[in-house]
Amino acid sequence: MPTTNCLICGAELEYYQTPRQMVCAMCKKEYETTVACKEGHFICDACHMEKGVAMILDFCQNTESRNPIAMLQQMMARPEIYMHGPEHHVMVGAALLAAYRNCGGRVDLSAALPEMVRRGQQVPGGACGFWGCCGAGVSAGIFVSIITEATPLEKKSWGLANQMTARALQAIGALGGPRCCKRDSFTAVREAVAFVQENLGISMELPEKIICGFSRWNEQCKKEACPYYANKEKKSIV
Ligand SMILES: [Zn+2]
Ligand SMILES: [Zn+2]
Repeated sequence: MPTTNCLICGAELEYYQTPRQMVCAMCKKEYETTVACKEGHFICDACHMEKGVAMILDFCQNTESRNPIAMLQQMMARPEIYMHGPEHHVMVGAALLAAYRNCGGRVDLSAALPEMVRRGQQVPGGACGFWGCCGAGVSAGIFVSIITEATPLEKKSWGLANQMTARALQAIGALGGPRCCKRDSFTAVREAVAFVQENLGISMELPEKIICGFSRWNEQCKKEACPYYANKEKKSIV
């Protein structure tokens, strides 16, 4: 079951405006952090996403799905993926890569997925609020960078990758906070499907309506203000 709170003790998380030096409760290494639970437990990004990333790689390598939202919903329902966390910065792009390939896009998935992991893991948790740059949106930009083989010196692909991130962040930002890795991931993928159709001519599938099955585990859920909030009659699809 996804949880919003501390993975060690279940207490609520606190975010700091300026970082503190803390020791990760799992790997015991010291890091600068802007988040810990109210009881003082801190878990580093690498430990937080280790199991999730392994699952994402395996799932996306083996799926035949053409629908990246359905893929997200299946992965999010797995215990390795927490309610919020930087594993979403890998998951968005990985689902898009797999769906793109399964819909006829040209990409070597066995090389692209590890590269998605390498780049997505560099986007830290909390980048949404602290950088003004949600990691789910960046993940969509990384996806476009990988499939178009962008580098800092390219012309067209460089433009496309930056436009993808901008488009995802525009849609994510327009909805307003607080952060929800589910809402932000669904929004980034929805924008990416439209962007790829318009610019690269590959049609990935989307559900008729995106319905979130995770609101009950998110204490900061925007409920009716979230476009994916399920009403009481049709509660959850996962
Ligand atoms: Zn704790
Ligand atoms: Zn750690």
